[in-house]
Parts: sequence; structure tokens; C-alpha cells
Amino acid sequence: MKTQNKDCNATIDACRYCFMCRHACTSGLVTATESNTPRGRALALFNVREQHTAYDPSLTETIYNCTLCGACKQWCEGKFDMPALVIATREKIASNGQPPAWARTIRQSLLQQQDFSQQDLPEKKADVLFYLGVQPHPRAGEILKHFSKIMSAAGIPFQTFKREPDHGKILQLLGYVDDAKKNASILHAQISKTSCSVVVTPDILACLALKNEFPSWGLALEPKIKVFHVSEYLLQLAQQKKIQLKKETRTVTLADSELASDPQGPAAAARQLLRLTAGDCFRELPKPENLVLATGEAAFGMEVDCRPVANLKETLEKRIAAAARQAGAEKIIMLSPRTAASPSCDGIPRQDILEWFAELI
Ligand code: SF4
Ligand code: SF4
Repeated sequence: MKTQNKDCNATIDACRYCFMCRHACTSGLVTATESNTPRGRALALFNVREQHTAYDPSLTETIYNCTLCGACKQWCEGKFDMPALVIATREKIASNGQPPAWARTIRQSLLQQQDFSQQDLPEKKADVLFYLGVQPHPRAGEILKHFSKIMSAAGIPFQTFKREPDHGKILQLLGYVDDAKKNASILHAQISKTSCSVVVTPDILACLALKNEFPSWGLALEPKIKVFHVSEYLLQLAQQKKIQLKKETRTVTLADSELASDPQGPAAAARQLLRLTAGDCFRELPKPENLVLATGEAAFGMEVDCRPVANLKETLEKRIAAAARQAGAEKIIMLSPRTAASPSCDGIPRQDILEWFAELI
């Protein structure tokens, strides 16, 4: 089988198989396995390309164990894009029907019940559409209540789908690009029928899909529709004084999402919001050289029991809790309900930014 494309080859050729990014690799640290490091992955893919070896289940698993955290790119002197290589390789693997069983299970669940109709549209019309983007989520009802409390305090009506279509980002990260586009087109059609002009989502993956992938897949929303991560939308409400907030008196810190590093994006808005309400009580997480603070945002399926790197979630949470303790923070604010699923870690509470904001009203 043909396994590499031009872009993959560029990264494989560029990588020196050195040790400069190895210590920072999330999957390497969690599994303590050399094959799960960027160096291990690049070497394996070089050997496949040179036909010294072929894809087998263990190599495939290695490619799918990457959390796409991007720490390797940050540490690499040449800024070689290992996460892009991993995604491109997954596309090749998926097109040959060979992803690991757990990835196929996630795909099946995301492709199920994608027959949406008029009946799934919001009951009432409003300019703002709240799209949760994480289905199913054990705390979906609570998240909606928090958003409702905020919008009611601001006097802004909003609408929600009765049943939400998937956005496709997880499928894309798994390598199933055609399926991703199919699901995205369903969501695109449903959003277009709502006549909203603002889409607000608390989920980083949904936000990335709507802002970046949809246009690249030929599914750009109408120009009048603006997409906001909830932290960006809440910052606007606070800056425009549409809402009165109590001052945050506890020391809080923000766990950046590895997928939201855009200096103008959700993390920047969340940081501004925290500084606005917490002032001197806001603490940055220290980032010592050997500490990886990936939140697992990109490890898409980690809340799914079938994912094999079972201790990934706990390991990442403990690292962030240790850094928060070092910073003297009493609370950790997360950028999405996906990464805030655990209410605390090592005695330090964790909250999604939406939940935290709602408490200050
Ligand atoms: S993206 Fe993260 S998990 Fe994947 S190879 Fe790079 S450092 Fe390791
Ligand atoms: S990605 Fe960069 S730092 Fe990592 S092994 Fe390759 S050359 Fe070295």
C-alpha cells in the first residue's frame, strides 16, 4: 500500500531523529515507550517509506497514540510539524480501513443518528445559537443551565438545537476526512436553517471546526454568521458591561488548551477575562522545561473508555494540578467542558470557563 504523501515525506526527511523533543512528548511520557515518541514515530514512518517494514497493528497504534499536543513542534529547532505528519498518516491508514478498533468505535458512534430534520431545529428563533458541540456529555444539562443564567442576566435570548449534529473535527483528527466533511455538511445545513447571526460554543474542537475546517471544506457559514468560543463571547459581554460580575477573590489559573494557542483566540480571551475579574488573584501556570501541560484537548477520544492509553487523562490532570499548586492557585479554569470533566484533581477544583463565569453573576 502507498503510505506517504509529499508533505509526510518532507517532515520525515527533515526530522533528525534526535532527542530534542523526546522529553516533552505527552504520549512518550505517559506510556514510557520509545515508539510513542516523535523520534520513534518518525523513524518508523521512515522505515515504512523505505519499505524496510510495513504497517502493522503496533505501528498503527503508535500513530493513533499521539495526543496531537504539539509539544514536539514547540521544542524542535526546525519546527518540524509532527502532529501534521501524524494526521496525514492517519488519513492514509483510515483510507485503507486499518485504524485501531477503538478509533473505529468512535467513528461509528459519531456517524450514528446523523439523519437530522426540521424537527431537530430550535423551537424558538434568536440571533444567538448555543452549540454545545460535545455529545454526549454527562453534564450537558448543567452547561446549558450556566449559559442560560448568563444570557438571562444579560437580557439576550438564545436558541439551541433539540438534537445537535456532530461538527466533524474528531473524525478529521482520526483520519476520516470524508466522514468529517459529511457530518460537517449536516451541521452546516442545520445552522443555516436557524437564521442565527452568532454561534457560541464552549467546545474548542467545535470552535476550530466551525472557524477553520468548515471554510477549508467548502462549508463556510454565511458571512453574517460569526462564530465565538464561549470565552470570546463572555469577554465581549463583560467589556460591553452587559453583565455585572462579582470580583473573583480566590486565586485562579488558566490551563491553556494545546489547540487554542492562537494569540487572538479563545485562550487569549479567557486570560483577559480572568485578569478582568480576578486581577491580582490570577496566576499563570509555571512551565518548567521538563513539564508538559497539555490538557488532552486534542486527545479527542480520551473520555471514551475504549482508548488504550488509559492513564492519559489522570496523568495530564495531575501535571496541571501540580503546576497550579506551585503557582499558588486555588482553582484551575479549563477552556472546554471536555477537559473540565473531572471536578477536581489532587484537591484542586477544576471548572470550565462557562461554569466559572456563571458563578460570578
Ligand atoms: S504531538 Fe504531542 S504526543 Fe504527538 S508526537 Fe508530538 S509531543 Fe508526542
Ligand atoms: S521533530 Fe525535531 S526535535 Fe523532534 S526528533 Fe525530529 S528533528 Fe528532533
